[in-house]
Amino acid sequence: MKSQNFNILFFLTVVCILATLWLALHCRAEAVREKDYSLLRERMVTSQLAARDITDKNVLSAMRQVPRHLYVPENYRHLAYEDYPLPIGEGQTISQPYIVALMTQVVNPHAQMKVLEIGTGSGYQAAILAKLCREVYTIEIIEVLGARAQKILQKYYDNVRVKIGDGYQGWPQFAPFDAIIVTCAPTHVPKPLAEQLREGGRMVIPVGEAGYQQLVVLTKSKGRLIEQEVIPVRFVPMVDSKGKKY
Ligand code: SAH
Repeated sequence: MKSQNFNILFFLTVVCILATLWLALHCRAEAVREKDYSLLRERMVTSQLAARDITDKNVLSAMRQVPRHLYVPENYRHLAYEDYPLPIGEGQTISQPYIVALMTQVVNPHAQMKVLEIGTGSGYQAAILAKLCREVYTIEIIEVLGARAQKILQKYYDNVRVKIGDGYQGWPQFAPFDAIIVTCAPTHVPKPLAEQLREGGRMVIPVGEAGYQQLVVLTKSKGRLIEQEVIPVRFVPMVDSKGKKY
């Protein structure tokens, strides 16, 4: 009887030691991976952003801090810091890091701003804005994407509000906005968005046909929009609730 008890005790001790060992190794692997990601992120900021024309220190700092790999599907995480867009499901994409930084920089973000984003997608652009601005409102038309983004955004930020709906209409309840960032492409500037932009505010938006658009910055001055071209881009089209392109 005594020796049977001893055997059970011995067995349980061995199991405990093995489990502790496994846990320790697993945690270490996770820590190493996080360190790798932060090195990749640093390299992304230096070689893809600062080496081009991203000069806003706060934008560079936000891009350095937000763990982009958490916003891409697991099977693409190892590519999260590469210089191109990635699929996020439902036929949609997370923009290339440089485009996210550029669109953020051209609206001159600062700590007092209330910003509207159209096209939440992965939630990554909203996370960058949340680091830089007071309030972020973001609208996504595809429910699964909006719900997924909301889950991660609410885990890390308390200044972001996500809505599932048609962003063409804006979010009148919280207007006017100091800046509007549109990450899907209509063929014309949506009138409701123009109306919901504050006097002196800036909107960055890709405008054009599917496959080729011009990224423009619109500044509201005396109620009128003054347009500045930025660069040619390729964004997914802005669609209505029936999937029809605007
Ligand atoms: N800003 C995103 C990029 C998203 S891609 C990110 O950081 O990951 C563009 C997104 O716009 C897609 O998810 C698409 O579903 C969404 N979209 C297209 N038309 C829309 C509309 N009318 N209103 C809101 N979102 C729209």
